[in-house]
Amino acid sequence: MNPLYIYNSLSRQKEKFEPLHPPFVGMYVCGPTLYSEAHLGNLRTYVSFDIVHRYLKFLGYKVRYVRNITDVGHLENDGDTGDDKIEKQAKLQHKEPMEVVEQYKQGYHKILELFNTLPPSIEPLATGHIPEQIEMVEKIMENGYAYDVNGNVYFNVRKYNEDHPYGQLSGRKIDELYNETRDLDGQQEKRDALDFALWKNVPKEHIMKWKSPWGNSGCPGWHIECSAMSQKYLGDEFDIHGGGMDLKFPHHEAEIAQSIGAIKKSPAKYWMHGNMLTFEGVK
Ligand SMILES: [Zn+2]
Repeated sequence: MNPLYIYNSLSRQKEKFEPLHPPFVGMYVCGPTLYSEAHLGNLRTYVSFDIVHRYLKFLGYKVRYVRNITDVGHLENDGDTGDDKIEKQAKLQHKEPMEVVEQYKQGYHKILELFNTLPPSIEPLATGHIPEQIEMVEKIMENGYAYDVNGNVYFNVRKYNEDHPYGQLSGRKIDELYNETRDLDGQQEKRDALDFALWKNVPKEHIMKWKSPWGNSGCPGWHIECSAMSQKYLGDEFDIHGGGMDLKFPHHEAEIAQSIGAIKKSPAKYWMHGNMLTFEGVK
């Protein structure tokens, strides 16, 4: 088998690819939040990882490729405040959130087909994995890295950082992060501005809401779905985790912290990030 070298974002080095359990390879790539039509920028990531997928298969590996669809929990400003992107579209279009997701999912699949990409082995939806996400949040709480305030559960970044360095993937230091953290509504109840939501308490009139140990009406935070679904389908540790460069922080950094916080294992051996599609220097 020809050797394959991968630039690992985690080590910032080109490394020889050695799967954990050859000939099997597990690869997870963060998929889209389907609240609008897929655009070329989305496609760039999936086309890049299609090449990785095909090349791994060409080398003879048996690949399980998991690429999720985010259908709940992704808020407008990519943080812990604002409307859920899909819930907002559903209200605007007078539709069920699932109708919105279904509508854009069909368009997304059609475009991926036009670009001649191979489908993933599993395409899990966040709303289909609420119990798994709740279970993971419970484990993180049991380990002392999360706390509940009025039905909102936050990841305690500072506490975690005492035991495990936070920011390894993005190469950020915890003190530098304070300068980047915007002062947003709802942060007053967090113990620390860097803490991020694992579970959100939402008003009763919300369409997408679930019962949890923290209240009758809540929904998962954005980052926890990928930790829960990658673990479910690829195991505690798998080979490759990919996504667009813009997901490296905070999304992927949070994923690493959540997995280590829950099961003391870093999820992926190799982290791969595709760059942004730019036109005349603009995203
Ligand atoms: Zn993700």
